[in-house]
Amino acid sequence: MRASDLLKPRPEGLYCPPGDFFIDPVRPVDRALITHGHSDHARSGHGSVLATQQTLDIMGLRYGEDCAGTTQAAVPGETVDLNGVSVSFHPAGHVLGSAQIAVEHRGMRIVASGDYKRQKDATCEPFEPVRCDVFITEATFGLPVFRHPPDAEEIARLLKSAAQFPERSHLIGAYALGKAQRVMRLLRDAGYDRPIYIHGTLAKLSEYYQSQGIDLGQLDPATVDSGGKDDFAGAIVVGPPAAFADRWARRFPDPISCFASGWMRIRQRAKQGGVELPLIISDHADWDELTATIKETGAAEIWVTHGREEALVRWCELEGIAARPLHLVGYEDEGD
Ligand SMILES: [Zn+2]
Repeated sequence: MRASDLLKPRPEGLYCPPGDFFIDPVRPVDRALITHGHSDHARSGHGSVLATQQTLDIMGLRYGEDCAGTTQAAVPGETVDLNGVSVSFHPAGHVLGSAQIAVEHRGMRIVASGDYKRQKDATCEPFEPVRCDVFITEATFGLPVFRHPPDAEEIARLLKSAAQFPERSHLIGAYALGKAQRVMRLLRDAGYDRPIYIHGTLAKLSEYYQSQGIDLGQLDPATVDSGGKDDFAGAIVVGPPAAFADRWARRFPDPISCFASGWMRIRQRAKQGGVELPLIISDHADWDELTATIKETGAAEIWVTHGREEALVRWCELEGIAARPLHLVGYEDEGD
């Protein structure tokens, strides 16, 4: 069977004709398989959804319990038969519940990675390489300039700044699903044991992470109604990046603006966003992780999507691996 007959792009998303399902469709479809809970991959309104239990829980928290007609939990490593096509989910190391999806039919196996990373992350299961004929890789940071430093170093810079300016507050912009909880967990791993203040939009998801056994320590609300300015002297406050533009951010004493993202490697981007303390912490694979992963899968062919396709396609060609960009529409990184 040809790979392009097993999975092909359609306006709704990546479609499997023999199995009659979509992976991470961007429009409502009858049957969707979903890699993880970020809003560009997980949408509401599908007839049925197959995803890991944690991804289903996260979708329920974000969109409401009736966000899909029916749901089925995929147990990582177990095979599900969909119209004669074998489907299995494998950890992607991106955010809690994130999975790669392996699709196998008549001797052809394709793995759709979704978003993934290889850096250790205490808030989710580590990426598990799966041997396959075709590997579909993301390429958010698919340029050799992107090399993420160890996350512990970035957190150490944050804590150094907090110790240096005990009267000021540190406001950390971090995406609500995954990045925010990872930053909090990293702070705990570095020995930070004071309460961490969180924006209201992080509460439900952070609570869910804690319920799944990921200890984030004491989290207190940093809402506009609670506490006076002085309460937040020396505090570390975590919120979604969008919150820092509004009234909410102005209540903190002499705040130092921080942003946790792989894009903080680009100094200009930090500067334009008014970020004083950029933290290069990414939930996506960097260049070295992308190329190492491609080799580990043993795939003879690579399809590259979500980002900087050209450089990675070129790298594959130089390595003697067939590669092409896979143009899927409607994806923006919610959690870079
Ligand atoms: Zn994602």
